[in-house]
Order: sequence, then structure tokens, then C-alpha cells
Amino acid sequence: MSALAPSALVAVVGAGTMGAGIAQIAARAGHDVLIFDAKPGAAEKGRSGILAALSKQVAKGRLSEQQYAEMATRLRVASVFAALKDAALVVEAVVEDLEVKKGLFRELEGIVGDDAILATNTSALSVTAICAGLKRPGRVAGLHFFNPVPLMALVEVVAGLASECGTLETLFDTATAWGKMPVHAKSTPGFIVNRVARPFYAEGLRLLEEGAADVPTIDAIMREAGGFRMGPFELMDLIGHDVNFAVTSSTFQAYFNDPRYRPAHTQQDLVAAGWLGRKSGRGFYDYADGAVHPEPNTRAVCRAPRRVEVSGPLGPAESLVPALVQAGIEVERRNSDGEGRILMEGATLALTDGRTATARVAAGGPDDLVLFDLALDYAKASRIALAPADQAAPGAADAAASLFQALGKAVSVVDDAPGLIVMRTLAMLANEAAEASLQGVATPSDIDRAMMLGVNYPAGPLAWADLVGTTRILRVLQALQDVYGDDRYRASSLLRRCVAGGRSVCCHVRQ
Ligand code: NAD
Repeated sequence: MSALAPSALVAVVGAGTMGAGIAQIAARAGHDVLIFDAKPGAAEKGRSGILAALSKQVAKGRLSEQQYAEMATRLRVASVFAALKDAALVVEAVVEDLEVKKGLFRELEGIVGDDAILATNTSALSVTAICAGLKRPGRVAGLHFFNPVPLMALVEVVAGLASECGTLETLFDTATAWGKMPVHAKSTPGFIVNRVARPFYAEGLRLLEEGAADVPTIDAIMREAGGFRMGPFELMDLIGHDVNFAVTSSTFQAYFNDPRYRPAHTQQDLVAAGWLGRKSGRGFYDYADGAVHPEPNTRAVCRAPRRVEVSGPLGPAESLVPALVQAGIEVERRNSDGEGRILMEGATLALTDGRTATARVAAGGPDDLVLFDLALDYAKASRIALAPADQAAPGAADAAASLFQALGKAVSVVDDAPGLIVMRTLAMLANEAAEASLQGVATPSDIDRAMMLGVNYPAGPLAWADLVGTTRILRVLQALQDVYGDDRYRASSLLRRCVAGGRSVCCHVRQ
């Protein structure tokens, strides 16, 4: 264990949202903390903000009066930059500007002792570029906290090209000692979370732009079937479209216009209109007092079927079979090597494999085909998305809906979009995670952990892809690329390799 001793002095430069949070957790871990900010009065303001937050914890009984008093003594304001000279660790959380950060580290080098470690909380800049030209770049690395710092467990410990192992280990162990759950990442655009999360927003936006479903319906499907805490539009409204669009645009540029990260005009327009989300009172939703929150499209309840026939394996949806039996529906099971289907009067249901229902009918499928979307857990999902083929009779969607309604689920009938909503988003998240793993940005398990801790995903994208079956995930991506002719959907070579070798993608280790 190479964590800094609690007796070591920590300095935080930049006393805004992130700097204040970092100072708070360092003081809580027992360090004396010096807070510096270039703006007059900002460090004092940051310190009083921390003390106000700590008083609330005292009121709630989470912190004793004595702990409060000790932390208040440990948290000090540095009125001049030179006062940071004895710090064993300096964490920089100033404005996100490469030249400002470079200048700051150059200045710090001349002040601190030889053994001091320097960290940057940058969310998008290259750690390598920030360290360029320093006399000792090996002692600098990224320490990327998430907002709000006291509550979010994830910290990405980011290695620049020159960062030394000892520096990374000390930062990792110190973050652990501060109660965080760090992961190692290589300095590449977006690090782990801001890169792997891009398709969560991008696929929602594309589905919306193509009229697959409206905003509240896509959000409800992602929450109630996908198990995500928020749908993509609710989350973008919370983050703020200016911030979210800027992260997407900078990732797109940083990857030399790779279509995987292409921003959406719909979001650009929201930014141009000043509809930034919750903070401006309007985004995809209206947050004005008294505004009515729109409801997702939900099919009226139809009479439950008495019997169905299940042919072939349903794969990740296999748990539907016992659930149907439990709901009092007679299930006749037929062995078949073909794709799994549920046959009932008026409709044939199948899980999406990325092709549209319409294309599957054209390729010889039954003309009453209705596809259903992926659910994180079919037993727990309270909603499911269905899409009938263009060739299907008008009653097919209602017939198919009645099956899921018999299981107590709400049904949203959406347009016949390739890969539907949850399956398509998962396929793209897993693909991005596989690509990040292939490029050595982080290990598969750290990527999964980062997505669960940093953005609250209900499962790591790689482990989830393994559960669904990487063969199906690859088929979904190939179908998407085929339909759109867009390189954005190209499958990661790691995913292809795991499918070819019959190996798990979340446990992939280099030989
Ligand atoms: P902020 O605007 O709330 O605070 C920045 C502070 O830095 C301000 O008080 C400003 O006066 C001070 N400052 C600017 N230049 C300075 C300098 N040269 N020397 C000393 N102080 C200086 O910003 P923030 O949201 O806390 O973000 C800080 C850093 O953390 C950025 O790099 C940002 O990308 C990163 N980050 C932010 C978030 C987030 O959600 N806000 C999350 C992760 C990382």
C-alpha cells in the first residue's frame, strides 16, 4: 500500500465545484488541506461551502461535532501560491483549458518539493499534453473525480505517456484510502466513462431523429426495460445540453471525426436555442412550474392469449417461458434449431437481432412478425418495446402486446427501427467498451466497474453483452451497419475475436 499518510499535506488548486469536493474528502480522510484559487475570495468561498455541507451532515448525525471541528481546522486557505511548497500532493481542479493547466504545472514544479505528486482533475484534456515540457512529468497523472465528489465513488487514475508507475500507484491507493473506488485508465480522449457512455446519448438521439418513438417513450423503455436509472433524454437534460454536446463534440474531434462519436443536430439545436435542460428550465422536457410531464406511449390492454407455442431457444428471453406458464398461459414447447419464436393467434414474436421485422419477413419470416426488445431482466422489466413488420396485419401489434400485458408489463409499440432501443444501445455500449479494452485504455473489468460507478449503469456493458450472448450482439452491430451503411456501427475486432473463439468479452485477457 503506497497511499499518502494522513499526516501528508494535500493542496487543491481551484476551489470551484470539483476542487471544493476534493478538498472535503481529503480533509475527511485526515489530511491537512490547503485550498488555493486565483480568483480573490474564491478559496474562502469554497471553504465556507464545504463547512456548510459538513454542518448539514452534523445535523443529520453523519458527522460528530468533534469531527466537524477537526475538519474545519484542517481545511485552510492559501493566500499565495508559494504557500503550497510543502504539499505532498497537489490536485489541480481549475478551468478546463490546456494552456492554463500547463502554465499551472510549470509554476508548481518550481515550488513543491522533489517528492511531491501532482494530479490533474481534467475531464477531457490529454494528461500527456498537460505534462509536456515539465522537468519531471513522471510525477504527474490524472485523478479524475466525478461530480458530486463526496458522493460519487469512481475515480479514474489516468496515466499520461510519461506518468511513472509509482505516481499511479500512490494516487490509486490514496483514492482508495479516501473511500473511493479507483480504476486505472490510459490518457485517451474521454478516458473510460466519457468515451464508453457516448452511445447511450447518441443512439437515443438517432432513434428520436428517425421517429422510432418519442422522447418520453424512449426514456421509459430505457428505464423500465433497460434498467437504467434515467433515460437518455432525462439524463442529457440533467447534465445540461451545453456540457453534453461539448463533450461529444470534443470526443468526435479528438478521434479525428470517427463517426462513432458524431454529435447530433437535434442536440446542437437545443444548445443554439438555449434549451439547456433543467438548469435553463427547458430541454427535451419543460421544467416550468405546472408543466405537464408527457407520458410514454403505452398500448391499451388487450385480452390475454390462452395458449402459445414456443419454438427454438429464446436466448436471453428464455425466462419468459416459465413466466407465461405462471401467468396461466398454456405453453407448448417445440424443439427447433432455428431462431426462437413465440407463436400465438395473430402474431409471431421474436427477439430483435438487429434486422428490422420488415427485413426478416422479406427474408422469409412469418408475415405477422412482431419483434420485441431486450430487457435487462424480463422478470423485473415493467415495460417492453415491440415493433411489428410493415407487412403485418394491423392486429398483430395488439396480439403481441397482450402476451406481455398478461405478464403485467406495459407495452410501447415503436417503429420498426433496426435493433430497437435497449438492444441497440447495449450493442453500441458493449462495442465501445470492447474497443476501449482492445486499445488498452483499461481492463474489461475496470471498464465495467467504471460504467456502473461513474454513470450508474445497471450492469457493466461487457458483462451484460456476455449474458445476452456476444454472437447476438455482433449480429446486431452487423445488421445496423448493413442497414445504415455507416461506419459508426462497425464491430470491434475484439468482439469479433471473442465470438470466433467462443470466449467471454468481459474476461478477455491478453495472452
Ligand atoms: P469551476 O468553474 O467550478 O471551478 C474552477 C475554479 O478554478 C474557479 O474557482 C476558478 O476561479 C479557479 N481557477 C481558474 N483558473 C485558475 C488558476 N490558473 N489558478 C487557480 N485557480 C484557478 O470548475 P469545476 O467544475 O470545478 O471544474 C474544474 C476541473 O474539473 C475542470 O478541469 C473540469 O473539466 C473538471 N471536472 C469537472 C466536473 C464537473 O462535473 N464539474 C467533473 C469532472 C471533472
